[in-house]
Amino acid sequence: MKLRHWQVSARRSRLAGALAMLLWCVSPLLAPGAAAADADAQVPMLLTFATIVDGTGELVPGREIIVEHGVIVAIGTSLAERYPGARPVDLSGLTAIPGLIDSHVHITYGLCGPSRGDAWHQLLRETPAPQRLVAAIGNAEKMLEIGVTTARDLFALDQVDFYLRELIERGIVPGPRLFLSGTGIHPLVMPPAASGTEAERIASLSQRAREVADSGADWLKIFATTGTGSDLSGERVYYYPEIKAATDTAHAKGLRVAVHAYGPTAVPDAIRAGVDSIEHAVDVDDASLRAWAASGIFYVPTIDHNRYYADHRNEYGYDADAERALRAFIPRNVAMLRRAHAAGVPIAMGSDAVMTMFGDNTRELEWFVAAGMTPGEALRAATLNGARLLGQQDHLGRLAPGFAADIVAVTGQPLTDIRAVTRQVVWVMKAGEVVVDKRPLGEASGARGD
Ligand SMILES: [Zn+2]
Repeated sequence: MKLRHWQVSARRSRLAGALAMLLWCVSPLLAPGAAAADADAQVPMLLTFATIVDGTGELVPGREIIVEHGVIVAIGTSLAERYPGARPVDLSGLTAIPGLIDSHVHITYGLCGPSRGDAWHQLLRETPAPQRLVAAIGNAEKMLEIGVTTARDLFALDQVDFYLRELIERGIVPGPRLFLSGTGIHPLVMPPAASGTEAERIASLSQRAREVADSGADWLKIFATTGTGSDLSGERVYYYPEIKAATDTAHAKGLRVAVHAYGPTAVPDAIRAGVDSIEHAVDVDDASLRAWAASGIFYVPTIDHNRYYADHRNEYGYDADAERALRAFIPRNVAMLRRAHAAGVPIAMGSDAVMTMFGDNTRELEWFVAAGMTPGEALRAATLNGARLLGQQDHLGRLAPGFAADIVAVTGQPLTDIRAVTRQVVWVMKAGEVVVDKRPLGEASGARGD
């Protein structure tokens, strides 16, 4: 990862032109289909489930949901009498849960083709932005397949994340609703952390936070420590004065702030700076944990990606020692989640998915249960808490009137077995539109409205 800022900027302006052209070219062709889908979404739908589980992690009385204009308008029983024109959709063998929220992905990290054993090199050196956009479109679809209807992306180069969001929002490609950080404050695009005086570094990070806000990002991502993939090092990159200055600038511009913090070292500074979420951290001491719980800052533990890198080490060229280190990191990560949850730190689910991990994003929740959370609490981390993290708690993350009709139907009992959520997704609706339907053809026919 040795690209300099000017190289990234030059690439970006060339790619911006090419990708903008692509959008202009394809959107008129696809607009009629999108309009038809919109018209279809105007007809109210009456969905019938076996049971309904809210993002609070509790059962909702009633089995029926009325969806209209992409929004849940009623939940209860005998709703056909109140909505006689509603089109029935029979999901009576399945349990409804809210659309899932993955609070930490890298959706633009993808290769067009298999890894040759050096996936990071291939990504950064051999995969130009248009190809990364193609891979990102595939990743977006894989997330919908497992019920993820909203995601927060926490680092992407060349604005590929913004182009993907535009394609999704304009109905050109299917995918989750995206909240984005763009490139953020990362050594890849910033002066080396140790360079200049403290005052210069503060000015530089504040300026960068303004640029990120002006780019249209929702979040500022600050890489406060090293650590990624098989690198579990957690060495400091930025310190309190810089983190605080960047955080204040971002907040003044209406952004939220996520801090990448491997190990414990950057956590006290991030808490003091008043950031909104802390990613990855382990081994945090009790005093810091108490301050963390009092602050209300979210913890996004990202446990399962260590398992993923260990299982897939050949794709990345990691050796057996790296695999052992990754597997040894998992118990520290689980122990941290257990302590954080017990201390009252709010938890949100983030997979940190990259490359071939897309499609496994929600396996993270199985670690949450292993760390002592109930299945209902784990579900809440991936629904209601994800929505709170994003500031979308009045719109997303729950099955209740007035909320977006992001609804996932699963087999099994999510409140007793989290695998119902992580492995048994059958049907997915996003904003009132059915985007996944894996029911057997006979069951699905006549109920899909297509
Ligand atoms: Zn990440």
